[in-house]
Amino acid sequence: MNAAGPGSPAGLREANRRRVLDAVLAAGEPTQAGIAAATGLAPATVSNIVRQLVDVGSLTATTTVRGGRRVRAVRVVPPAGHVAGIDFGHRHVRVGLARAADTLPRTTAEGVPGPPVPLVAEREADLPDGHGVDDGLDTAAVMLDQALAAAGVDRAELVGVGVGLPAPVDVRTGAVGEPGILPGWVGVDAAHRAGRRLGVPVAVDNDALLGTLAEQAWGALADVRDAVYLKLSDGVGAGLVLDGRPYRGRTGTAGEIGHVVVADDAGGPTGGVGSTVCRCGNRGCLETWASTTTVVGLLEPLLGRPLTIAEVVARARAGHAPSRRVLADTGGHVGRALGGLCSVLTPARVVVGGELAQAGDLLIEPLHAALVRWALPGAAEGVEVVPARLGARAHVLGAVALAGELALGTRG
Ligand SMILES: [Zn+2]
Repeated sequence: MNAAGPGSPAGLREANRRRVLDAVLAAGEPTQAGIAAATGLAPATVSNIVRQLVDVGSLTATTTVRGGRRVRAVRVVPPAGHVAGIDFGHRHVRVGLARAADTLPRTTAEGVPGPPVPLVAEREADLPDGHGVDDGLDTAAVMLDQALAAAGVDRAELVGVGVGLPAPVDVRTGAVGEPGILPGWVGVDAAHRAGRRLGVPVAVDNDALLGTLAEQAWGALADVRDAVYLKLSDGVGAGLVLDGRPYRGRTGTAGEIGHVVVADDAGGPTGGVGSTVCRCGNRGCLETWASTTTVVGLLEPLLGRPLTIAEVVARARAGHAPSRRVLADTGGHVGRALGGLCSVLTPARVVVGGELAQAGDLLIEPLHAALVRWALPGAAEGVEVVPARLGARAHVLGAVALAGELALGTRG
């Protein structure tokens, strides 16, 4: 196992640095004793981490007098320069550029989310499904240059890039692990490859996890400690928040709810018809029942032409019964898979993001009903199901937040 895995000494150090930094961001200018109280870390550990973060320029620590006692007060130094987020989908790429200092603060008072980090430039382009890593990175690099030019930012001012991928990213190796889910990227150390191509430090994470980070910082997850963020797009994934923190699991790939089998060859929602083979190699995964591809694939034969999700939603709102039916069934399949997850994790809130979230109640109400139907009654009781607040930009904003963390020197 690589030394940087989540359970390794390096992973633990990284997690503790993150906890200290989060505590400082939340409190503004806490004392070292206050940080120890907020994080539960030993005062000596806090003192060590603060010294390291002061050495790399992420924090300042000054001796001051509070309540008649001399204390060490700690502040975050807003990072200089600009950061970029790159959100790769199966068929698109989105680039956002922001001032690094604007990615702070991550936590707002009383859980009321502040406005999201303002992007000084934004670009979006289509990619062919199954694109290779070099093609994807070339496209993103051109868009990043365009964004820098549009904002009048010199390339030398770019201090970090966060990249979101619609696939499980193994934090032990930095590689896209699962064959088939994003075939052009499998086995590639995406952070290293992207860093070489873009010429700046790069951090990579799963896109649903990045949507979770963005909704925690500026959206619908700001005031809950146990929650699930769902990304319903061409791919289906989830980000888990457990006890206030994003949960990545042993390998960093936790949350792949799209590959939970909701119906196998023996039957299920089709009533015995053989289930579709998923890109992961299983049959009957949630993603084969509830992705944007499935939704348009069910309706296109009826209408005789290619459709977008926006058109499907507009038709459904106008009363088109087949469109309403497909969106409701999609919500039902997702709710069924989520029911099991709710029984296990008992989240307080489920936040629905990704392209299908634009269906609103047409999808969310049947999703909620199915969740209640399939979860343990006590676990489903009181679970809120709400749309994501940041919409289609959640993932690129999360990538910007990740780049902001990189700029703060917490991941080096
Ligand atoms: Zn699958």
